[in-house]
Amino acid sequence: MADRRFARFRLWFGLSGSRVRRRVKKAMEATSGPLLLRCSVQNYDWGRFGEDSTVARLFEQNSGGEIELARPYAELWMGTHESGPSFVVAPSETAGSLGPETVTLKQWITANPGSLGEKVVEKWGNDLPFLFKVLSVAKALSIQAHPDKELARMLHKMRPNVYKDPNHKPEMAIALTEFKALCGFVNIEELKDVLISVPEIKDLVGSEEARKFFITEELDVNSEAKMFLQSIFTKLISSSKEAVSELVSKLKVRLDTESKIRTLTEKEQLILLLEKQYQADVGVVAAYFFNYVKLSPGEALYIGPNEPHAYISGECIECMAASDNVVRAGLTPKYIDVQTLCSMLTYKQGFPEIIRGSPVNPYVSRYTPPFDEFEVDHCLLPPKESVVFSAIPGPSIFIVVVGEGKMQFSATDDQDQKFMMGDVFFVPAKNEIRISAGVDGPTQLFRAGVNHRIFC
Ligand SMILES: [Zn+2]
Repeated sequence: MADRRFARFRLWFGLSGSRVRRRVKKAMEATSGPLLLRCSVQNYDWGRFGEDSTVARLFEQNSGGEIELARPYAELWMGTHESGPSFVVAPSETAGSLGPETVTLKQWITANPGSLGEKVVEKWGNDLPFLFKVLSVAKALSIQAHPDKELARMLHKMRPNVYKDPNHKPEMAIALTEFKALCGFVNIEELKDVLISVPEIKDLVGSEEARKFFITEELDVNSEAKMFLQSIFTKLISSSKEAVSELVSKLKVRLDTESKIRTLTEKEQLILLLEKQYQADVGVVAAYFFNYVKLSPGEALYIGPNEPHAYISGECIECMAASDNVVRAGLTPKYIDVQTLCSMLTYKQGFPEIIRGSPVNPYVSRYTPPFDEFEVDHCLLPPKESVVFSAIPGPSIFIVVVGEGKMQFSATDDQDQKFMMGDVFFVPAKNEIRISAGVDGPTQLFRAGVNHRIFC
């Protein structure tokens, strides 16, 4: 598929200079209607393969290419981040005509900042403050945390080749299928349980340390527990490769043996699964310290700055502040920044909040995380039904995940624009949109926009 895309680029660059300039000019022209986008895909090795990947199926429709069966398709990116830009499809280039898209959404927005609305420009400048994604996860992503704004600025200044932008990256995942993740530290009781029931971790901590933790009951439990957690987590994550390898193999042998005489807990089963995916990785043991979260389709999880997490499996819609800053701690062959990670974490304990979306109308529910940069609407429309997204003073990106239908825009000559699965639209501020589902089946879309609270 990539080859075909590049072939289209060669064709494009084969055009005369003046024709290219005319096409670019056309693509850059301000429009009050929606812009169809061609989006980028990321083939990270934890992605699902070929037809099994929703990302691949959406990308195939979006790009007009073919799925390569032997490649993992991990993430579809919709937005302006330079590590995976979206391109504007000029109106004349639809319906399979020549043009590959040479104008990125970022360039188009820079030339047409009014499309963001005054409030967004005032708050974030001439760029989209959010990045919208679809994820198809086959195996665990690294255990990671994202820095807050201040730390992000510092990390970017110190190591710009690792931390590529100076922004924070709060994020939210809405499950499309059953979606499993590790998120945040377990509460004090569970942590005590780990120290009792996992001899390998007790050995690592040392019995004297563990004993101290158990007698802190009457003291200021929260702050004591936080300090204790920080100390043992740092000790584990900073252990030598040899020590970790020995620890993981002891743990595996014990769990394998015990699985013959009792049913392992869900966490223990997860530990064995992670060991299969990332042998001798510190993340296998670290999983004991985190909450194991299972989302059903439609449930969502949001992750604030400096909170540890790792997505394990499943497919989701994800939205985040426009950044790609990740500090990793395990379950990865990539660069691990142990010192930064251990010192940045909040060590807050307890199960994360699961959100289910509040109804906006019978067909649309809204997921509003406590971050200004974004919110996501989910629209599930039965066949032949219509719904109106009222005009808002900020930009939106729509992705059609299932079905087909048509859209009508308040600002353009009331011509219906047909859409189908895999279509992605950028909708400038102050556009009312009516969406009608096709006759054959339901239509499912997601919309990302800035958090509506910034307009209140
Ligand atoms: Zn993350």
